[in-house]
Amino acid sequence: MARTSQQTPAPSPAGLVAAEPADIQRLVEDLDGMLNRLRLGAIREQLDGLLEEAARRQLNLREALAWLCAAEVASKEQRRLSMAMTIAHFPFVRTLEGFEFEAQPSIDPGKIRDLATCRWVANGDNVVLLGPPGVGKTHLEVALGREAVARGYTVQFTTAMELLGSLVKGQQQGTLEMRLAQYAKPKLLIIDELGYLPLEPAAGHLFFQLISRRYEQGSVLISSNRPVEEWDEVFGAQVVAAAILDRLLHHSHVVTIRGDSYRLREKRRSGLFRPQAGGSSSAGIGGLPPPTPAKEV
Ligand code: ADP
Ligand code: MG
Repeated sequence: MARTSQQTPAPSPAGLVAAEPADIQRLVEDLDGMLNRLRLGAIREQLDGLLEEAARRQLNLREALAWLCAAEVASKEQRRLSMAMTIAHFPFVRTLEGFEFEAQPSIDPGKIRDLATCRWVANGDNVVLLGPPGVGKTHLEVALGREAVARGYTVQFTTAMELLGSLVKGQQQGTLEMRLAQYAKPKLLIIDELGYLPLEPAAGHLFFQLISRRYEQGSVLISSNRPVEEWDEVFGAQVVAAAILDRLLHHSHVVTIRGDSYRLREKRRSGLFRPQAGGSSSAGIGGLPPPTPAKEV
């Protein structure tokens, strides 16, 4: 049916065809209830303040309505954001503003700011962050993940161990398909700490299944302390590693971080830590054992 350009007459609120002041008064008394029914919680909660401000600014009715709607939209957006951040399961709050680029000169700030636009997420590309422990890989993953959430993408953060633990369990319990589907769902899946422990070949194969399922559908942001040339050892089988890398790196941005651990730097600054002569900068930092195997880029 063709749409008519004629304006439909404004409907009268029930019983208000010939509105008496008393009728309007009744509506005002029911205003809270109506705002509740319409789920306009922010307007309901802030009504007095919003109306006072509208009056102070001498807004006309249309402007005042827009003012109220803007308050509701802002509040709903805030709620959506905090819900999405919770669902993403970030291990801590880190932001790009909080990242000291001067401390890590091997990182090109322009590249990270470009990644922060999330065009790569829109395109379904992947990002691989490589570097030794403590150089800010997880910090950047969380910060970029938060940027993606802020832009409305669904994000899930997990560690390689947690992810594979879940997939292995799924295989044992006959729920693998469900778990693969769950990890395939978010537009951006962040997989932290690949390579800290070598994987069983069976786990490598499960990882491959997930990566191929997400291939060209959704983005993966993955971090590892091992250069990709060593992923054969991580996955325990060269052919599996090659198949994973083939898909992961096809449309990807690789950021390699070289340099000192930030934690170590802080410790050194405060005089708590003195580097051992010729020692590796990763050994036993913050009570953590060195990565296995203790190789650094
Ligand atoms: P990685 O994941 O590479 O092991 P993290 O991201 O966990 O390192 O960094 C260790 C700690 O140091 C975190 O608290 C992180 O926020 C902080 N950090 C690392 N690099 C920087 C940096 N360049 N600027 C600010 N904080 C940093
Ligand atoms: Mg980390």
